[in-house]
Amino acid sequence: MRPLIVVTTTLAPSGSHNLPAVRLNVQYVTAVEEPGGTAVLLTPGHDRESVCRLVELAHGLVLTGGEDVAPELYGQEPHPELGSVNPLRDQIEMAALEVALRRGIPILAICRGMQMLNVALGGTLYQDIPSQLGGDVLHEQDAPVTQRWHRADVKPGSGLEAIFGNRELFINSFHHQAVRDVAPSLEATVWAEDGIVEGVEGKEHGWMYGVQWHPERGEAESPADERDPDRRLFWAFIQAAREFAQTTSDARADATTDLVSAAD
Ligand code: MN
Repeated sequence: MRPLIVVTTTLAPSGSHNLPAVRLNVQYVTAVEEPGGTAVLLTPGHDRESVCRLVELAHGLVLTGGEDVAPELYGQEPHPELGSVNPLRDQIEMAALEVALRRGIPILAICRGMQMLNVALGGTLYQDIPSQLGGDVLHEQDAPVTQRWHRADVKPGSGLEAIFGNRELFINSFHHQAVRDVAPSLEATVWAEDGIVEGVEGKEHGWMYGVQWHPERGEAESPADERDPDRRLFWAFIQAAREFAQTTSDARADATTDLVSAAD
């Protein structure tokens, strides 16, 4: 059975009348579908009750890249270099995360998604790496989107090392913000050479990983290579979602059996 994967989206003006339209790079959908997931898009236009309903039905959640997270959510004043924010999207994603965390479904958080996850769990962010930190690594890459840009090191023995099968990564980089204080229930397990956190994992939640880069773009670059760490991340995510779906359908089948035996 294909697991249902809720994927978050944003809004952007579109068409000849510049009306707000739902927006998502289709690579996220492809990366979920290719290993066997079924992507369901969650938009900032959904009612809060529908957000909960969709995530209640889902077997996995992907928090995607996009705008900066509103600094008020982690107790900071906006920095002059803060980029555009989208409070409606922040709210929708917070609500989705709340349900996902309660149910224990697999969560894959990408770029802004990883920052959102960290903030939702009580962590903080750098609002702008170049002005607040400087550093030797350019995190808004100066190369085409299909190219990998900087090195990253994975903590030995971590969940991400097991998924990637590698302690040394070469990743793309499209971010000007970064995780500052890691949330208490997360652990940083991937870093760039300047110390910027590039990957986190949940300490208590079942399958929960965040990456600061865009693995869905790496997928487009090397579609056939099963050793590709980006590809392995999506395969591991969908496998975890499949297992979650299996567990819940087994539980439902058991409950039905119990009802039948009770009736007997
Ligand atoms: Mn980076």
